Amino acid sequence: LSRYDLLIIGGGINGLGIAADASARGLSVLLVEKDDFGGGTTSASSRLIHGGLRYLQYGEIGLVRESLRERGLLARQRPHLVRPIELLIPTFRGVPPPGWIIGIGLSLYDLLARDPLFARSRPFSMGEVLRREPGLTREDLRGGYLYGDGQISFPERLCVELMRETLAAGGEALNHTRVAALRKQNGRVTGADLRDELTGREWQVEAELTINAAGPWVDAVNRLLPAPPPRLIGGTWGTHLVLPPRPEGPRGPLYAAARKDRRPFFLLPWDGRLLVGTTDVPFEGDPDRLAVQEWEVEYLLSETNRLFPGCRYSVTDVQFTTIGIRPLPASAKTAGAITRRHFVVDHSRLHGSGGLASVVGGKLTTYRSLAEEAVDRALRILGRPPVPCPTRLMESSPAVHELEREAASLARRVGVPDEAAPRLARLYGRRAAEVLERIGDRPELGRPLAPSCPALLAEVAHAIEQERARTVEDILCRRLMLLPPPEGAAEAVHRVWPESGAG
Ligand SMILES: Cc1cc2nc3c(=O)[nH]c(=O)nc-3n(C[C@H](O)[C@H](O)[C@H](O)COP(=O)(O)OP(=O)(O)OC[C@H]3O[C@@H](n4cnc5c(N)ncnc54)[C@H](O)[C@@H]3O)c2cc1C
Repeated sequence: LSRYDLLIIGGGINGLGIAADASARGLSVLLVEKDDFGGGTTSASSRLIHGGLRYLQYGEIGLVRESLRERGLLARQRPHLVRPIELLIPTFRGVPPPGWIIGIGLSLYDLLARDPLFARSRPFSMGEVLRREPGLTREDLRGGYLYGDGQISFPERLCVELMRETLAAGGEALNHTRVAALRKQNGRVTGADLRDELTGREWQVEAELTINAAGPWVDAVNRLLPAPPPRLIGGTWGTHLVLPPRPEGPRGPLYAAARKDRRPFFLLPWDGRLLVGTTDVPFEGDPDRLAVQEWEVEYLLSETNRLFPGCRYSVTDVQFTTIGIRPLPASAKTAGAITRRHFVVDHSRLHGSGGLASVVGGKLTTYRSLAEEAVDRALRILGRPPVPCPTRLMESSPAVHELEREAASLARRVGVPDEAAPRLARLYGRRAAEVLERIGDRPELGRPLAPSCPALLAEVAHAIEQERARTVEDILCRRLMLLPPPEGAAEAVHRVWPESGAG
């Protein structure tokens, strides 16, 4: 029977953030994830690292300040994944909120941010708006505002980085491993029964403290206890569409109010495509049974076509959809008004069950500060002396163009065309060298995965040997970030990795 200081349930951004922080602070850690790292809510987000301009409307100044600070840290520590962007907010006659309110909100946002990496906001005349977005509807258009925020191209890759940081600091992280039961002794949670979902192997582990970081599944995990605590999560679900870019469509990121229900939604150029989202609907059921509704697709397509009438997107243009549940605290408020703040709930205070804490809420943007708070709390619960949090002080990374230059010079040395370098630098950061060095020993790994596919066979070997990918989908969708995988990619994985069978 293995024994750990901390058992973390859930390998999304929050669980992995906690695992990396806790192992760096000297705790023995096991993280388990029932599917793949980052495959839950984390991969269904709008992929923004943002201060949360909208939260100002609900007076959440503290949350905005925290999010803006985290945005700056992330963009400096992981610039290959997080980049500053400028979003346009077009304003329309008769559509609230009026331009002057947006202007006041943005001035406050600038004041709270004071970060030279991100552009300050500025008002735009109608002419300036149309020069930037010539395809935008002119109907009732008045002008707009431009403001700076951040975009994370692949939160899935951030999860992989945190998983590797956990392992490097002596922790353990297992994907495709489900907590099937929580073990309790003398009123304390003492560990869990685990099941490997791919091999069927079952075993038990003991932990001094279990942290339930299962996002929207937090209540389902707590229901594994003989006397479950009251419901903690009152999530809302959100859907995104991924569409092909069109010349008549948006040229840059856009944040607008939907005509139908006045809800804000984003149009975001992303990975050569257009990401459109999202809906925000209260969710009560089983998170594993969530499915995109027809009305959501129609709503998002019609709002996009209304803003950019030349696009004429239809259902057949949708390349794929994502859906996820915001793991918000249970609340009687309307979906948009529920706080986006996070809480770490110590169950010994909640219902007298020691040895267990649950993470409620949290955004992608604030995973690091959530992890800091959770580990500070864990040290107190475990009765250990405080240890300073290392992630706040993590050094800045070289800029992306430097990473690209390094990758290009190494690519040349191993006979790979320079064009592969920008992608490798953006996906792997400083670790692009680990991928390219494999090609030195096995030149055949320098070939692309499939015709006209940007990924190299070396990345498959790297995903399996260094990044704990265990299925073909893990490799293609959450390591190589081929969304959706191009034709022939799965077959190529089978050739590099015959043991994968049917995957
Ligand atoms: C539509 C939408 C848009 C969003 N946009 C943004 C955005 O732009 N910016 C931002 O900052 N935030 C955004 N968010 C919020 C953000 O995505 C989430 O708050 C965050 O990803 C939650 O991460 P998590 O680790 O808590 O949960 P998850 O990523 O869901 O991870 C929990 C994991 O627990 C695992 N699990 C469940 N049960 C078990 C079990 N029994 N055993 C083992 N593992 C288990 C699940 O498989 C899952 O992978 C958005 C959310 C949604 C839904």
